[in-house]
Formats: sequence, C-alpha cells, structure tokens
Amino acid sequence: MRVSSRPTTRGGAGQRGSAGQVRKKRTCRFCESKETYIDYKNEKRLQRFVSEQGRIIPKRITGTCAKHQRLLVTAIKRARHLALLPYVSDAVK
Ligand SMILES: [Zn+2]
Repeated sequence: MRVSSRPTTRGGAGQRGSAGQVRKKRTCRFCESKETYIDYKNEKRLQRFVSEQGRIIPKRITGTCAKHQRLLVTAIKRARHLALLPYVSDAVK
C-alpha cells in the first residue's frame, strides 16, 4: 500500500493566539457605583451590556461581577419583556 503524505498531519503544535485579549478595567460598574439594584426601566444603561444583535454580553468582557451579572441579566430580561430592549435585533442577517 502506498501512503501518500497526509494533509492533516499539520495539527501537531496547537496554535492559539494568546495575545488576542484586550485589556480592560476589571472593575464592575455596579460595584463602583455601589448599587445593589439594577433598574430594568433604565434601558440606556442596560444597552451597554447588550450587543448589537440584542444578546447579553458575557461578564468576562464587560467585567461585571457575578453578583451584578445575575441582576443585570434579570433586568435585561425584564426590559425585553417590556419591549425596552429587543430579543433579537433587526440588524442580524
Ligand atoms: Zn458588581
């Protein structure tokens, strides 16, 4: 049997760009302002934590702490229910 050189042999060294992360402030906005409650009626504030597609941005990007991320998600879901925020944006192709 003749084995030709396989094209898939190049997976030896796993190359994953480790320097691709953007450094941002790791502080939680809500902790900074010492808020214990996130107002779901304040959609302008909530919009900062929602992507253009209407999805909630994960806390590792926004830097929100776990406690406030939970509150934030609840607030965003309430805001969606009240049609202050979109479930899905029209911009999605
Ligand atoms: Zn926080």
